[in-house]
Amino acid sequence: MSAEDIYMAVHQSNPGIGLTTIYRTLELLEQTGIVSKFEFGHGRAKYELTEKHSNKKHHHHLICKKCRKIIDYTDFVKEEQEYINKAEAGLQKKYGFDIDDHLIHFYGTCPDCKNA
Ligand SMILES: [Zn+2]
Ligand SMILES: [Zn+2]
Repeated sequence: MSAEDIYMAVHQSNPGIGLTTIYRTLELLEQTGIVSKFEFGHGRAKYELTEKHSNKKHHHHLICKKCRKIIDYTDFVKEEQEYINKAEAGLQKKYGFDIDDHLIHFYGTCPDCKNA
Protein backbone atom coordinates (compact mmCIF):
# COMPACT_ATOMS: atom_id res chain seq x y z
CA MET A 1 0.00 0.00 0.00
CA SER A 2 1.05 3.59 -0.49
CA ALA A 3 0.81 6.15 2.31
CA GLU A 4 -2.20 7.59 0.46
CA ASP A 5 -3.90 4.17 0.37
CA ILE A 6 -3.43 3.84 4.12
CA TYR A 7 -4.67 7.38 4.67
CA MET A 8 -7.86 6.62 2.73
CA ALA A 9 -8.42 3.40 4.67
CA VAL A 10 -7.79 5.03 8.04
CA HIS A 11 -9.61 8.27 7.33
CA GLN A 12 -13.13 6.81 7.64
CA SER A 13 -12.72 5.62 11.19
CA ASN A 14 -10.09 8.15 12.29
CA PRO A 15 -10.63 11.45 10.44
CA GLY A 16 -8.19 13.19 12.79
CA ILE A 17 -5.19 11.32 11.46
CA GLY A 18 -3.36 13.25 8.78
CA LEU A 19 -1.09 12.12 6.00
CA THR A 20 1.95 13.50 7.86
CA THR A 21 1.25 11.21 10.81
CA ILE A 22 0.99 8.27 8.46
CA TYR A 23 4.30 9.12 6.78
CA ARG A 24 5.99 9.50 10.17
CA THR A 25 4.53 6.23 11.44
CA LEU A 26 5.59 4.36 8.30
CA GLU A 27 9.11 5.72 8.68
CA LEU A 28 9.19 4.45 12.24
CA LEU A 29 7.80 1.04 11.24
CA GLU A 30 10.43 0.83 8.53
CA GLN A 31 13.23 1.68 10.96
CA THR A 32 12.05 -1.02 13.34
CA GLY A 33 11.86 -3.57 10.54
CA ILE A 34 8.11 -4.07 10.61
CA VAL A 35 7.48 -2.78 7.10
CA SER A 36 9.67 -2.61 4.03
CA LYS A 37 9.55 0.26 1.59
CA PHE A 38 9.50 0.10 -2.21
CA GLU A 39 10.77 3.32 -3.74
CA PHE A 40 9.50 4.56 -7.08
CA GLY A 41 11.19 7.96 -7.11
CA HIS A 42 9.56 11.39 -6.78
CA GLY A 43 8.62 10.58 -3.18
CA ARG A 44 6.35 7.81 -4.38
CA ALA A 45 6.68 4.67 -2.30
CA LYS A 46 4.72 1.60 -1.33
CA TYR A 47 4.97 -0.35 1.87
CA GLU A 48 4.58 -3.98 2.79
CA LEU A 49 4.73 -5.80 6.11
CA THR A 50 8.01 -7.69 6.37
CA GLU A 51 7.67 -11.47 6.33
CA LYS A 52 8.46 -11.75 10.02
CA HIS A 53 5.45 -9.55 10.74
CA SER A 54 2.92 -10.85 8.26
CA ASN A 55 1.40 -14.25 7.60
CA LYS A 56 2.36 -14.14 3.93
CA LYS A 57 4.56 -16.91 2.60
CA HIS A 58 8.07 -16.10 1.49
CA HIS A 59 7.72 -14.41 -1.87
CA HIS A 60 9.54 -12.27 -4.40
CA HIS A 61 8.29 -9.29 -6.34
CA LEU A 62 7.62 -8.18 -9.90
CA ILE A 63 7.44 -4.41 -9.96
CA CYS A 64 5.96 -2.44 -12.84
CA LYS A 65 7.90 0.78 -13.33
CA LYS A 66 5.03 2.39 -15.25
CA CYS A 67 1.98 1.89 -13.00
CA ARG A 68 3.89 0.88 -9.83
CA LYS A 69 1.93 -2.33 -9.49
CA ILE A 70 3.71 -4.87 -7.30
CA ILE A 71 3.03 -8.55 -7.95
CA ASP A 72 3.97 -11.00 -5.21
CA TYR A 73 4.92 -14.39 -6.56
CA THR A 74 5.80 -17.65 -4.95
CA ASP A 75 5.67 -19.97 -7.97
CA PHE A 76 9.34 -19.75 -8.96
CA VAL A 77 10.75 -19.17 -5.52
CA LYS A 78 11.60 -22.85 -5.00
CA GLU A 79 13.76 -22.99 -8.14
CA GLU A 80 15.33 -19.64 -7.32
CA GLN A 81 16.05 -20.80 -3.80
CA GLU A 82 18.49 -23.41 -5.05
CA TYR A 83 20.62 -20.76 -6.68
CA ILE A 84 20.14 -18.32 -3.79
CA ASN A 85 21.34 -20.91 -1.27
CA LYS A 86 24.46 -21.44 -3.32
CA ALA A 87 25.07 -17.70 -3.67
CA GLU A 88 24.43 -17.13 0.04
CA ALA A 89 26.83 -19.89 1.05
CA GLY A 90 29.50 -18.46 -1.25
CA LEU A 91 28.99 -14.93 0.00
CA GLN A 92 29.03 -16.03 3.64
CA LYS A 93 32.29 -17.78 3.06
CA LYS A 94 33.97 -15.04 1.06
CA TYR A 95 32.87 -12.10 3.19
CA GLY A 96 32.42 -13.80 6.56
CA PHE A 97 28.95 -12.30 6.52
CA ASP A 98 26.02 -14.14 8.10
CA ILE A 99 23.08 -13.78 5.73
CA ASP A 100 19.66 -14.29 7.26
CA ASP A 101 17.36 -12.77 4.68
CA HIS A 102 17.08 -11.51 1.12
CA LEU A 103 14.75 -9.43 -1.01
CA ILE A 104 14.29 -10.14 -4.67
CA HIS A 105 12.66 -7.60 -6.96
CA PHE A 106 12.39 -7.76 -10.71
CA TYR A 107 11.57 -4.44 -12.38
CA GLY A 108 9.84 -4.07 -15.72
CA THR A 109 6.51 -3.52 -17.44
CA CYS A 110 3.30 -5.34 -16.52
CA PRO A 111 0.95 -6.75 -19.21
CA ASP A 112 -1.61 -3.95 -18.70
CA CYS A 113 1.01 -1.28 -19.35
CA LYS A 114 2.53 -3.23 -22.20
CA ASN A 115 -0.83 -3.43 -23.99
CA ALA A 116 -1.78 0.17 -23.28
ZN1 LIG B 1 13.47 -15.65 -1.52
ZN1 LIG C 1 1.89 -1.59 -15.06
